[in-house]
Amino acid sequence: TYTLGPKISDWDQQRKVWLSENPEFPNFVNGKARILLVTGSPPNPCDNAIGDHYLLKAIKNKIDYCRLHGIEIVYNMAHLDKELAGYWAKLPLIRRLMLSHPEVEWIWWMDSDAFFTDMVFEIPLSKYDKYNLVVHGYPDLMFEQRSWIALNTGSFLFRNCQWSFDLLDAWAPMGPKGSIREEAGKVLTANLKGRPAFEADDQSALIYLLLSQKEMWMDKVFLENQYYLHGYWAGLVDRYEEMMEKYHPGLGDERWPFVTHFVGCKPCGSYGDYPVERCLRSMQRAFNFADNQVLKLYGFRHRGLLGPNIKRIRNETVTPLEIVDELDIRRSTHEKA
Ligand code: UDP
Ligand code: MN
Repeated sequence: TYTLGPKISDWDQQRKVWLSENPEFPNFVNGKARILLVTGSPPNPCDNAIGDHYLLKAIKNKIDYCRLHGIEIVYNMAHLDKELAGYWAKLPLIRRLMLSHPEVEWIWWMDSDAFFTDMVFEIPLSKYDKYNLVVHGYPDLMFEQRSWIALNTGSFLFRNCQWSFDLLDAWAPMGPKGSIREEAGKVLTANLKGRPAFEADDQSALIYLLLSQKEMWMDKVFLENQYYLHGYWAGLVDRYEEMMEKYHPGLGDERWPFVTHFVGCKPCGSYGDYPVERCLRSMQRAFNFADNQVLKLYGFRHRGLLGPNIKRIRNETVTPLEIVDELDIRRSTHEKA
């Protein structure tokens, strides 16, 4: 059967030794766990040229968030494993990065079509001290309804530890493209509520695994729904003006969503569940909504949520350092901590 690579069984021990021998690469810096954000897109150009422009917007948005919060970032465009092309490509990539970056404590996968829309909010990592996988989801949808959208694999974190390799090994077998993926899709559709008939996808496979081996895994899985680690775009993008009127960044929940994820939009490919025009317009809004929070640091904002034009919101001064602290996102979050 299919495997992601040689079976590793003593990673925690190997990594501990490595960390002790390489104190210049600590997994915690100033008390904060080192995080590596991983995203990517297919190796070839989009079918539609505008799709590549939106991939650029999406990576710019992630670079901004990561720079402001001291998170390292990887953008992958290679298929590390031909068998696991498409949405399954994240599995071998995460595994590879955990092995190559023992100094990283958390690997954070984020889809290309997910935007940070709260540039101030930080993941409350201490909440996950006892957990190894953090994913947006709802226990009742999962264990009572067996819903195929009980959790979303567009944005999740894996701790760099043996447990995570074991989970990846258990998750991967439905992934190989062709007949394996096709047949597995039938099992998933038969077992998960609401799932249309199509080949096995990584999200359904994870839900199915956690449902069928609950005892084995769930004590280390945190289903997060207190803030939008993943937020479904359709309910959010039309409310940005209202949010700007009533609330402020840093909340991360429905008042000011941390992540807006364009599930069902495929601007880079040809098919999707929504009209491409609506997707692109909504993505522009999410991008500008987020980019306003970045531009504010530099004294500008977008004229509106659609379109590229910006305007000045502060006059230039000869004593800019008087307000530099109060504008600094990093300081505002550190004070709260
Ligand atoms: N992806 C990738 N390489 C590929 C295909 C997909 O890195 O060849 C990533 C990309 O970040 C994408 C995610 O996998 O957002 C999920 O893939 P999917 O096809 O489900 O796209 P989405 O549903 O996010 O549009
Ligand atoms: Mn996605």
